[in-house]
Amino acid sequence: MSMPPVLDRVLLSPPDVGAREEEMVVAAVRSGWIAPLGPMVDEFEARMAARCGRGHAVALSSGTAALHLALLELGAGPGSVVVVPTLTFAATANAVVYTGATPVFVDCDERTGNLDPGLLDHALEVLGKEGTRVAAVVPVDLLGRCADYAALLPICARFGVPVVADAAESLGARSAGAPAGSPGAAAALSFNGNKIMTTSGGGMLLTDDAGLAARARYLSTQARQPAAHYEHTEIGYNYRLSNLLAAVGLAQLERLDEMLGRRRAIRETYAALLAGVAGFEVFQRDGDADDNCWLTAVVVDPEVTERTAADLVSAMDAAAVESRPLWKPMHLQPVFAGSRVFATGAAERLFQRGVTLPSGSALSAGQIGRVCAVLEEFTAD
Ligand SMILES: *Cc1c(COP(=O)(O)O)cnc(C)c1O
Repeated sequence: MSMPPVLDRVLLSPPDVGAREEEMVVAAVRSGWIAPLGPMVDEFEARMAARCGRGHAVALSSGTAALHLALLELGAGPGSVVVVPTLTFAATANAVVYTGATPVFVDCDERTGNLDPGLLDHALEVLGKEGTRVAAVVPVDLLGRCADYAALLPICARFGVPVVADAAESLGARSAGAPAGSPGAAAALSFNGNKIMTTSGGGMLLTDDAGLAARARYLSTQARQPAAHYEHTEIGYNYRLSNLLAAVGLAQLERLDEMLGRRRAIRETYAALLAGVAGFEVFQRDGDADDNCWLTAVVVDPEVTERTAADLVSAMDAAAVESRPLWKPMHLQPVFAGSRVFATGAAERLFQRGVTLPSGSALSAGQIGRVCAVLEEFTAD
């Protein structure tokens, strides 16, 4: 079958797959292991657990599935709440709703875009005093910058609330020497097509708790009891990753460091271009040595430049370059209208001022040059 060509538009974060991925998929097909189990799934789990410094990894069909199962296992359900940063992709909050629990949104530190530890402390205090059961806190490693776990973990421990780290965007990053995905009772990775590495779609649950890993594996395969007729004592899910997709994941993992390097080089290119340009700041630039640079964003200050983030998105669009505002805060989403929120306005300001730029490791020097040309013209005078 001949496929229509992908348009000559510079995309934000297109998948970076090639000959090695093709070779591994062919090997998987020829091996006969096509189903959502097989030796490549096992190997992918072992390698990813090692890479992230975890005892156990469970390969799943998405990062959302990993969040869902981790939250279920930690007791999220009807009658409880889960604290989620308001500045995130909807999947973080959706996973909470799948369990029957209610998300409570907390604002971010405006410099990093990550969960504000002081505000989290306040929120847990308020929720505790009124007797609300908090099943978990889900910090998000926004755009590949790890949340401030050194501050967050002791706060959560003090209130006796477990942490599920949403590391969907941060594979390869580090915080205080620890790899992304290593903090918390469990963590979720995503291998969606736009992430730092992809299996086309996929995810992984990481934990050091063997029991939690075993339970997640069981729930992800329809909760089948070991009987020939498949006895079921609870509701399961069809969440396991296919061996074919694990083949793509193994090839991507071999290339991960090279892909991380490419994303960082793109960050450096934008940062050099915008250095000293008043009113345009590379987001999360401060102390970004440990970040994975999944997406590089620029924060436009309309009071300094008389230009807005929306103007920048329009200019990019006119040049066939994809760019996007930062995540729209969850407490401003129609679907979460009326949700409880502890807000300072930081996430809302970042939403109004932040623009994510093409950052994918598959982008050519020519394509990045096209983005730079738009940036240069937009920031001139
Ligand atoms: C991508 C993403 C997810 C969901 O991952 P999927 O694999 O697409 O289900 C969850 N949280 C954040 C912050 C993400 O960026």
